[in-house]
Amino acid sequence: MTDRYASFVQTGAGRALVKRLGLPDPPRLRRHTPGDPLVPGPVLLGSATGGRLAEPVGRILAAAGVELADPAATARFAALVYDATGVTDSTELRQLYDFFHPQARALLPSGRVVVLGTPPADCGSPREATAQRALEGLTRSIGKEFGRGVTAQLVYVTPYGDAGTPVSLESTLRFLLSGRSAYVSGQVIRVGAGTATAPADWDRPLDGQVVLVTGAARGIGAALARVLARDGARVVALDVPAAGDALAAVVNEIGGSAVQLDLTAPDAPTRLAEHLATRHGRVDVVVHNAGITRDKTLGRMDADRWDSVIDVNLSSQERINDVLLERDLIPAGGRIVSVSSIAGIAGNRGQTNYATSKAGVIGLVDSLAPVLRERDISLNAVAPGFIETRLTARMPLMLREAGRRMNSMAQGGLPVDVAETIGWLGWPATGAVSGNLVRVCGQSLLGA
Ligand code: NAD
Repeated sequence: MTDRYASFVQTGAGRALVKRLGLPDPPRLRRHTPGDPLVPGPVLLGSATGGRLAEPVGRILAAAGVELADPAATARFAALVYDATGVTDSTELRQLYDFFHPQARALLPSGRVVVLGTPPADCGSPREATAQRALEGLTRSIGKEFGRGVTAQLVYVTPYGDAGTPVSLESTLRFLLSGRSAYVSGQVIRVGAGTATAPADWDRPLDGQVVLVTGAARGIGAALARVLARDGARVVALDVPAAGDALAAVVNEIGGSAVQLDLTAPDAPTRLAEHLATRHGRVDVVVHNAGITRDKTLGRMDADRWDSVIDVNLSSQERINDVLLERDLIPAGGRIVSVSSIAGIAGNRGQTNYATSKAGVIGLVDSLAPVLRERDISLNAVAPGFIETRLTARMPLMLREAGRRMNSMAQGGLPVDVAETIGWLGWPATGAVSGNLVRVCGQSLLGA
């Protein structure tokens, strides 16, 4: 599905019209291509007095080949990274104003803003927790204000004491600074202090990992299979038998293996477990992506529509998790990523069944992630917003246009944007990020 308006505004005539009429101006987003430098320009790193992260982050960035800028000598930056962990009182928030105010127009298109803080629950006093919580308002507003494809995120990093900088902070920084996070903005990400393993090559962060992707025959799932394989994974791609040809085409392209299975079949979890056990002996990453919609307002919805959506989108995920965990097929250090939706956050007219199932996915992450932490398995969810797929192509024109424009990027995301975000949550290096819900919605106004 192409966004003709977004293509038009890139032309000379389009630019003139957008300017004259004050129309939405979707920028061309910087997306990841293997071999790209992490950022296409210098990065300005700042810190509040007493910050605990600026020094290790400086080392991470330097090792990643990033040029750290001197603000006196450089006018334009590819990213602004600010360590706010030293802010222990609301009066000290002024330091963020002092850092960001002069740079408000200094970011290159598709620039990045990353603010690092301490989770309020880990703060030493109510005043510190208050000031740290305040950071969310700043980053979300910057995401809405800076425009031109700039993204802004808050990363809360659990104090890690003498344990060394968590690898997950490095993987999260790399994701957020790179073109992989093109359509992720206004998010709060929590990095724990748990163990995670850095890859030998950050361009192949999933090297040798066995990854299951459900619903892989088309749309987001097919993009996922391609991204994961590109990043080094051995992909097990699952979809219904009716989608067998499309699934085979994806698998032939990436060199993975195909499983034709209806996830709602009573024996689906055991058949899947047996396939994974005999072919691979394990599964390092499970991505629950398969999903369906059966829209109708509640009063007109028959019970079948309700049951099928809850079963595919939520209950099947629970059944599969149970069997794979029972049989110890997900080893310590494994990751599970579930696909939710902003409909599960905001609700949606005509989608009571779908929104219930997708809110349930968020509940699954909230309730199961702490339990899985004991087995060193991470569990996170992504919530896509308006993504250009067959699903959104079927929407009525006005609704589709509203969905595309009502976000900080003034455009819909692409399946690859969701795929890159899920990929990052699946990296062994991201293992200490767990219990998070990350929206891939261009900072949609829905449910914000
Ligand atoms: P899609 O319809 O293009 O693909 C979904 C895939 O899941 C299909 O290949 C389908 O055959 C498969 N599937 C459905 N039921 C199955 C079952 N019982 N067993 C095995 N496979 C089954 O959808 P998409 O747009 O790529 O969406 C992927 C995920 O992202 C879904 O969970 C969806 O709810 C979610 N999502 C999509 C958007 C969007 O804008 N497209 C927004 C928010 C969330």
